[in-house]
Amino acid sequence: MIDIKSMTSEELGALLKEQGEPRFRGKQIFTWLHRGAISFHEMTNLPKALRERLDSQCVITHPEVVRKQISAQDGTIKYLWRLLDGNCIETVLMRYHHGNTVCISSQVGCRMGCAFCASTLGGKVRDLTPSEMIDQVLFTQIDAGVPISNIVLMGIGEPLDNFDTVLRFLELVNHQDGLNIGMRHISLSTCGLTDKIDKLAEHRLQLTLSVSLHAPDDETRSKIMPVNRGIGVKKLFDTCRRYFETTGRRISYEYAMIDGVNDSDAQADLLASHLKGTPGHVNLIPLNEVRESPLKPSRRVLEFQQRLERQGVTVTVRRKLGSDIDASCGQLRRKAMGMASEPSADNVRPNGRKD
Ligand code: SAH
Repeated sequence: MIDIKSMTSEELGALLKEQGEPRFRGKQIFTWLHRGAISFHEMTNLPKALRERLDSQCVITHPEVVRKQISAQDGTIKYLWRLLDGNCIETVLMRYHHGNTVCISSQVGCRMGCAFCASTLGGKVRDLTPSEMIDQVLFTQIDAGVPISNIVLMGIGEPLDNFDTVLRFLELVNHQDGLNIGMRHISLSTCGLTDKIDKLAEHRLQLTLSVSLHAPDDETRSKIMPVNRGIGVKKLFDTCRRYFETTGRRISYEYAMIDGVNDSDAQADLLASHLKGTPGHVNLIPLNEVRESPLKPSRRVLEFQQRLERQGVTVTVRRKLGSDIDASCGQLRRKAMGMASEPSADNVRPNGRKD
């Protein structure tokens, strides 16, 4: 079966032409799919015979809402979706002044093994398809009934470990006949796969690249992020510098503050020295506690921030959203079907039904 929502409008046009149909049918179908059509029978401007043929050749992915949690504090919504093969993933919708932002997953699970992150606990199960990434934006928008203007690839998974899919997703979501979300409204977060950062730079996309740094020295970074062992902090910063030179886009560095691990004055100074000469932005994240991990949030966030600022670094401290529903950074995790049921709270609406 053809996964039709993973195809570009041009590919659809070519497919239709091969079948003896006019090429513009491709654009019509693309438009329907990216408005959330879940059946060819809805596509009333297509001839009936074509609809029936497509129905027998193609699958239109659409995830089922297994659980929907709404934060009583700030309206953040966390979705647990079931994919067609039974795997589950999470998506978070956040309301910011600058627009509604959706935080999407790129893989079922993750194989990067960061010590502080819940998404990696069960390892990686599989990559998502471009359609499954689009669906998270599309069906969040439809279910929540609000327009989405920004996307962050900061949910479950390592986007650059699913490189070709993520590039295709970006092309699809950016398309004028689809969701039409501008690259400048998209952030991609990576644990720092340097060869893939170089590959991404070649595409010169206007998105924001976020690098999850979390420590400025190899000893600490390799301890909490195994991915650093084969790369090292120096190579990572050299790659980031090249990325900036090629794309002209300033990198944002994520830094989750962990008590006694990465919050010393010496580490602030080392971080500032790495950033000398290349424009970058540091985003300090108060660590979210993960039940299975002994790591604790730092009590020195403000001091660390001020020490960086005194050395000319631009720093922000990330605001926590959706903490009452475990929707914050690093707390999304793979849920096998049976594990999907957690103690229900008042703000949990099963099956995504609205009040
Ligand atoms: N794999 C990508 C994207 C997913 S993680 C990456 O590593 O960037 C999204 C962000 O949340 C990353 O910066 C990650 O390091 C951070 N994060 C993970 N667990 C966290 C935790 N317990 N507290 C705070 N931030 C966390």
